[in-house]
Order: sequence, then structure tokens, then C-alpha cells
Amino acid sequence: MPRYDFRCRSCGATFELRRAMAQANDPAVCPQGHTDTVKLLSTVAVTGASGGSAPQPPAGGGGGGCCGGGCCG
Ligand SMILES: [Zn+2]
Repeated sequence: MPRYDFRCRSCGATFELRRAMAQANDPAVCPQGHTDTVKLLSTVAVTGASGGSAPQPPAGGGGGGCCGGGCCG
């Protein structure tokens, strides 16, 4: 069963809940009893903004080749 992280906006506490994926978006109740909680992204770390992948040019393309020159067709 997946685990989800939540954060309480009332007291700022973070807590985890294990629940079925079908219930992932259900409201969670803080251990302190608050209901104003938000679901945090799990597993995908959002700490630090380091780089990121730059767009890459398409691989291959151009450049001779037998069939590219029409020598075999
Ligand atoms: Zn709370």
C-alpha cells in the first residue's frame, strides 16, 4: 500500500498515511485533529533546484548513408 505525505496547514505538522491509491486524494486529518491538510509529493524530491535536463537535438538525421543518397533505390 503506498504511503502519502501530508502537511497540516493549521499546525504545520507533517505526517504520513498509508492508504489505498483510490483514497490518495481523500482529505487527511492531522494527528492533532486538524482537517486543513495538503498532500505532499512523495518520492519525487522537490528540494533544491539543480539544473534540469536541457532539451536535446534530435538524434541522428542527415549525414549521408546509403539510402540517404538514393544510391540503392
Ligand atoms: Zn494540525
